[in-house]
Amino acid sequence: MNQQQFDVIVVGAGPAGSCTAGLLAMDGRRVLLLDRDKHPRYHIGESLISGVWPTLDRLGVRERLEQMGFPRKYGADVLWGADAEKWGFTFRQAGPYEFVHQVRRAEFDAMLVGRARELGVHVVEDATVKDALFDGDRVAGVRYQVRGRGELEEARARFTVDATGQQRWLGRHFDLVDWHEDLRNIAIWGYWQGCRRFDGERAGHTLVEALPTGWLWFIPLGQDTTSIGYVTSSELLTNSGLSAEKLFETQLEESKLVKPMMDGSTLVTAYRTARDWSYQCRSFQGPGWALVGDASAFIDPLLSTGVTLAVRGARVLAKALNEALSDPAREAAALRAYEDNCRAFLNVILEFVRFFYDQTKTRSEYYRGAQEIIDPERQRYPEFDFVKLVSGLAGDDEDLAIVKEILVYR
Ligand SMILES: Cc1cc2nc3c(=O)[nH]c(=O)nc-3n(C[C@H](O)[C@H](O)[C@H](O)COP(=O)(O)OP(=O)(O)OC[C@H]3O[C@@H](n4cnc5c(N)ncnc54)[C@H](O)[C@@H]3O)c2cc1C
Repeated sequence: MNQQQFDVIVVGAGPAGSCTAGLLAMDGRRVLLLDRDKHPRYHIGESLISGVWPTLDRLGVRERLEQMGFPRKYGADVLWGADAEKWGFTFRQAGPYEFVHQVRRAEFDAMLVGRARELGVHVVEDATVKDALFDGDRVAGVRYQVRGRGELEEARARFTVDATGQQRWLGRHFDLVDWHEDLRNIAIWGYWQGCRRFDGERAGHTLVEALPTGWLWFIPLGQDTTSIGYVTSSELLTNSGLSAEKLFETQLEESKLVKPMMDGSTLVTAYRTARDWSYQCRSFQGPGWALVGDASAFIDPLLSTGVTLAVRGARVLAKALNEALSDPAREAAALRAYEDNCRAFLNVILEFVRFFYDQTKTRSEYYRGAQEIIDPERQRYPEFDFVKLVSGLAGDDEDLAIVKEILVYR
């Protein structure tokens, strides 16, 4: 075999890329996975929801994830909306998964790349993809630069997958990105040691607290470390005339849920920031190419759905690419089905995030809002639908089935 000829080239070894590559390799496909960095590398996105399990189970990494020592996350507590009291949920309320994990992404992502390698994926790190190669209109491969090597290298494949996250390599190339103007936000966060924990199962819960100007996250990670962040609109930050750090510190003073958990704790890192992340690409696929994970779309950190969207998308895409590789006449239909499925799921999350940002609603109104979106015929209880939605519609292939139902309703 020519080393540089593959069935599929995947660009970007975050969760979306590693899972797409690994699942294709499990089906005997020749896959090249390229990443401009070398794992382990830092990444934000530490609070998982149980919607990650169907993909991680298919890859066979549940046991190794459980052995990595990350805290178990059974659910979340929130101080949110018109209710004066804290409320929350546990994943088991909408089953079948009891818990998931809060993860350090450097280690989590490295584990997934390792699994892809083990499954036979040819992984090249420190390899930045520069351009797409074309055969007429069809994307036919990539040109990439390996750090420290002068010459650009080329690799060709029947399909090229953009999993470059918010770099959106092909989305930019094809000018596909539509921003969600109402979700142009900024996040500022850091890592603290010595924060308090709730007792028992709730020790690993994510805490989310609304503030007059935005919201706070509190994510208990292992080894006594807690990720604490603040999200507000980019416009509000600009109008405040304050630095992001100063606005964060001022707003923290307003906190009733997160601040008391920080008594006696110490900030052990510099602050980090990210901004303007909410968008969808107008198309997720075309001749010889597909986008997956953040490269296709990203909604908002509010419901911790990013990694679930990425690995769920990987599962649906791997299935579509397999079908197209086995029967080239099915390519357009298989890729179209991938896009429809992911878009339906994304739109559920987008619609609910917009609804949930409205602080005037009560807890039961949020429940009913979730029901309107995923269960308009009211076959289940509103609270069940809420938990199902914020778990990422998790449940073996149930998430795929629910999306099919949603596609039928709309
Ligand atoms: C403030 C904030 C908080 C968040 N919190 C959460 C959370 O709590 N839970 C959650 O689930 N999600 C969260 N997310 C979202 C989460 O970070 C992403 O959705 C997730 O990382 C997407 O995975 P991915 O594989 O698509 O992309 P990424 O994880 O970004 O991976 C992309 C990879 O592509 C590589 N790459 C980029 N360009 C190139 C190139 N040209 N050539 C080769 N390689 C390239 C990068 O090095 C990287 O490894 C948050 C996001 C933000 C902004």
